[in-house]
Amino acid sequence: MRQHGKLEYGGHAAPQRTCVGCRVRTAKSELLRLVLVEDHVVPDLRGRLPGRGASLHPSLNCLELAERRRAFWRAFRVAGSLDVSRVRAHLEEDHEMSCRTPS
Ligand SMILES: [Zn+2]
Repeated sequence: MRQHGKLEYGGHAAPQRTCVGCRVRTAKSELLRLVLVEDHVVPDLRGRLPGRGASLHPSLNCLELAERRRAFWRAFRVAGSLDVSRVRAHLEEDHEMSCRTPS
């Protein structure tokens, strides 16, 4: 008897989003939602800010990839300047908290 993959998801799979940095699809809950506030990209920590969002792994690596690929400009459909310093600061803070290496 042949089985088709059709029913494999069996209902609702966990929502997934693509990271704008590395383009890997990941469960939405593991990604950081970013929104645009004027020309600042800010982390939407409570998932409550309105507007177009972009998803990013909470990693500096992915932030850098996204910047290099100009993914934010595409995600937010803007042509002008974007400031990602608040996202960077947030990720750096996280990084320091999760791996405290003595200097
Ligand atoms: Zn990523």
